[in-house]
Amino acid sequence: MRLVVVGGVAAGTKAAARARRVNPHLKIVVYQEEPEPSISECGLPYLLSGTVEGRRRLVARTPQEFARSGIRVLVRHRVEELEPDRKRLVVRDLFTGATFEDRYDRLILATGARAKPLAVEGSHLEGVFNLRFLTDADRILDHLRRHRPSRALVVGGGYVGLEVAENLRLLGMEVTLVQRPERVATAYDPEISRRIEDHLREHGVEVRTSAEVEEFRGAGRVREALVSGERVRAELVVAGVGIEPETTLARRAGARIGTTGAVWTDRHQRTSLPEVWAAGDCVQTRNRITGEPAWVPLGDTANQMGRVAGTNAALGEDVEEFPGVLGTGIFKVFDLAAGKTGLSEQEAKRAGLEAVAAGIESRSRAGYYPGAGRVLLKLVAEKGSGRLLGAQALGPGADKLTDVCATALWGGLSCSDLVNLDLAYAPPYGPVLSPVIQAATVLQ
Ligand code: FAD
Repeated sequence: MRLVVVGGVAAGTKAAARARRVNPHLKIVVYQEEPEPSISECGLPYLLSGTVEGRRRLVARTPQEFARSGIRVLVRHRVEELEPDRKRLVVRDLFTGATFEDRYDRLILATGARAKPLAVEGSHLEGVFNLRFLTDADRILDHLRRHRPSRALVVGGGYVGLEVAENLRLLGMEVTLVQRPERVATAYDPEISRRIEDHLREHGVEVRTSAEVEEFRGAGRVREALVSGERVRAELVVAGVGIEPETTLARRAGARIGTTGAVWTDRHQRTSLPEVWAAGDCVQTRNRITGEPAWVPLGDTANQMGRVAGTNAALGEDVEEFPGVLGTGIFKVFDLAAGKTGLSEQEAKRAGLEAVAAGIESRSRAGYYPGAGRVLLKLVAEKGSGRLLGAQALGPGADKLTDVCATALWGGLSCSDLVNLDLAYAPPYGPVLSPVIQAATVLQ
C-alpha cells in the first residue's frame, strides 16, 4: 500500500508522520517542491532580524531524519499531473528538469498556499520580495548582506507585514508600512487596529494607511516607490499582500473546489476524488460559529488537519474528524501582543448576527504589584442569549486571555457562564478578577 503526500511543510509532514504511526506497513513518499521539508514558516520574520539565528533552526526535520522513520521525502520535486482514475502522478525532478511517473493507492494533497503577486509596475526589480517560503527569506537575507539597505518599504498591514516591519526595524532600518485599507490588522475591530498602529509609530515605523503602492523604480535594483503619488525611498521592499490557496493540481485533476476558492473536503478531510484526502492551507473548512465555509490558513490548523488526513488515509477509513475552526490567532509587534478568537464585532454584524460588545481595559497584574501594564479585552456576544461570539485581546497576557476565550467559545459558553469561571489568580499574574470575567459581567 503506497501513500503519496504532495507538499511537505506543516500539513504534509504531519500527515505523513501520523500515517506512519497508525500504519507501520505503508510505503510513504512525500513530494516537496521547495528545497526543504517541514519548515516553520511562522518563524521567517524573526530570521530576518537574527532574533532566530540560522535558517537550519526553522527546519524541524530533514529528509534524512524522515528517512529514519521510513518516510521518503523527495525535495525539489513538483507533482505536475494527477490522474485520479489511474491513480497516477507525473512528477518533475527540479534538480534535473526531467519528469517521471509514479503511482499511489492513497494520496494526500497538502499543497498549501502561495503569496499573491504584487501587480505593480517594477515588481520585477531586484530588492522586491514576498515572504512565504524559507527560500524567500534566503533571498531577502542575501539582499541585506550584499546591499546593506537602510530604507525598507513593507506592503500590507496584515500580521505578516506587521511582523516583517518590526523585524526590519530591529535591524535599524527606516521602515515605511503601506496599507491599502484605512487601517492595519483589519481582522480586528477599528479601536484595536488604531492601537496597533500607534504602537508601530511609537517604535519608529512610518504607517501609511489608505495608501496605494503604484510603482517601484530603480535601474535594475529598487530605489524608490511611488505611494499614492508620492515618492518614497525604498532599497528593500517586502510585500505581504495576502495569500491564495495553491489548488492548481487539485483543479486540474477535477477535484471539487469550495466557495472560498480552496479545496473542498468532507469532515474527514476526504476530497471529491477517490482515495484522495487534503489538509492545510489548500483546504476549505468550516467556521464553528457561523457554520459557514471558511478558509483560515494557519500553521496550527494545518497541523491538526494533517493529523486527521494522515490517520484516515493510512487506515482508509473515516476514523478522525476535523471539527472546523474558530480562527484563533495571535501576533506580536515590538512589545505588543494582539490575539483574537472567533468573530470581531464588525465580522459578527457582517454575518447577520445581532451582536453586543464590551471592551474593558485593566491592569495586567494586581495594581500594587510592580511591572503592571495595561491590557485591553473586547468580548463580542450574541444579543439576548449572551452566547460568546468572539474576543480580541491586546497587551501583556493577551495570549492567555485569547486562549481562555477560545476554549469558552469552543465549549459554547455564554457570558453568564464566563462570569462564574474559576480562573487562576495571584498578584504577579493579573487583577483579582480576570478581564474575561470583568467584560462578561458587562455583557451578561
Ligand atoms: P505550506 O506551508 O504552504 O506548504 C505547502 C508546500 O507544498 C510548499 O512548500 C509548496 O512548495 C509545496 N507544494 C505545492 N504544490 C506542490 C506540488 N504540486 N508538488 C510538490 N510540492 C508542492 N501560522 C500561524 O498559525 N501562526 C503564525 O504565527 C504564523 N506566522 C506566519 C508567518 C509567515 C511569514 C508565513 C509565511 C506564514 C505564517 N503562518 C503562521 C502560516 C503557516 O506558516 C501556514 O499556515 C502553514 O505553513 C501551512 O502549512 P501547509 O503545509 O498547509 O502549506
